[in-house]
Amino acid sequence: MKEKERKILINETNTSPYKEIRCPCGCESVFIPKRRDQVYKNSKHANFAYNNGKRKQVSKNQRVAESQLRKNDKIMEKYHLFFHNKLAVAFSLNLAADGFDQSFFIGNHFEEGLLYKKTYNYLFREYEKDGRKLTQIIKQKTKVYVKR
Ligand SMILES: [Zn+2]
Repeated sequence: MKEKERKILINETNTSPYKEIRCPCGCESVFIPKRRDQVYKNSKHANFAYNNGKRKQVSKNQRVAESQLRKNDKIMEKYHLFFHNKLAVAFSLNLAADGFDQSFFIGNHFEEGLLYKKTYNYLFREYEKDGRKLTQIIKQKTKVYVKR
């Protein structure tokens, strides 16, 4: 049946005081609501939209966060190697220029009395010296393995 024909049919058989609407779950179906506040075709469609809409949003945010954490790890690895796997200290400005974002970390960690921020494989701590911001980088003893 063509969309136009279907619409006519729906309108002719419409005894509901409400106009036909499109279900926003993504199923593309058009229906006539039974109640003024009805948004989805039925509860199945409502649940689908709720679960998928939310899940999609969460996974998108998660992907962004994970990607930045991996980027942070890669940048720290670079500095860590440059400092021959000893204690690495970098200018925060240089790290930022590489794409490092201090606001992405997965937890806090105390190491020798100092508070570090934790990523997957590294710990970092920003501090100030002579008016310049520096970031200290150390490798975690216990790695957090993640799927890449
Ligand atoms: Zn639907």
